[in-house]
Amino acid sequence: MRDTGTRLNPLDLLASLFDSGRGAYKLDEVAWRAAMALPVFDGLDETARLHLRERTQGLLADKAFSGAGGLEMDAAMATTIAAFAVLPVLNLEEGWYSGWVEVVVYPGEFIFDGEQMDETGVVHHVRHARSGEAMAGGPLVLSWQDVQGAGRGEGFNVVIHEFAHKLDMRNGEANGRPPLHAGMDPAAWAEVWLAAYDDLCRRVDGGEVTQIDPYATESPAECFAVLSEYFFEAPHVLHAEYPEVYGQLVQFYRQDTLARLRQAGGIIGT
Ligand SMILES: [Zn+2]
Repeated sequence: MRDTGTRLNPLDLLASLFDSGRGAYKLDEVAWRAAMALPVFDGLDETARLHLRERTQGLLADKAFSGAGGLEMDAAMATTIAAFAVLPVLNLEEGWYSGWVEVVVYPGEFIFDGEQMDETGVVHHVRHARSGEAMAGGPLVLSWQDVQGAGRGEGFNVVIHEFAHKLDMRNGEANGRPPLHAGMDPAAWAEVWLAAYDDLCRRVDGGEVTQIDPYATESPAECFAVLSEYFFEAPHVLHAEYPEVYGQLVQFYRQDTLARLRQAGGIIGT
């Protein structure tokens, strides 16, 4: 882990509470058009884009976007972040991102220095560089530098990653198992994810250079967040590696990203 970057200051996370930044930024047309030209949005038809735009405006109204560590937030940055964030919930009911307000953005990676609880409930002191952080019931933190690298179909999207943690946290601690929709089979979800997680851990532990970012082996929660990134950014990679996980995510996100991107004939081709 690099030990550079701005230290995450807990006070930064409260800053926008005092100037009530909720809804401070309206959709920026230039940033919106630039976002829509990115490969991750390829294949969305006019109706879907209009819906995405409305939901993006809704998210901008609902959240308080603020800069920290010297970053000056503006409508263009907030629009870019909101557009990425809305993509996963485009076909879900409203409300999946409710219950928290703050989106705090640092210029680059920030240092998380503090207490963190592991899966067994033991609290450790940790210090590491982060490109994003989603706090249960609290703020979502992003590195702007990493946001700028997202959307290019390379399997990486820090916004989708952190918002996926927020989806996962809707039924308690992030554990890789968000609330499932009616008609989804919880046993199938558990089986498919455990098999993929175990397989990836085994391959990474064995020294294999995997197509999937090995950060997914940190925990089942990270596995869900990282594979959600691939689902939207590089679904062909996820489908080739773990087709059953891909199938579960089609049911969860109610989108067939691979079919959509193939139809668009973009970077994935056929
Ligand atoms: Zn994560």
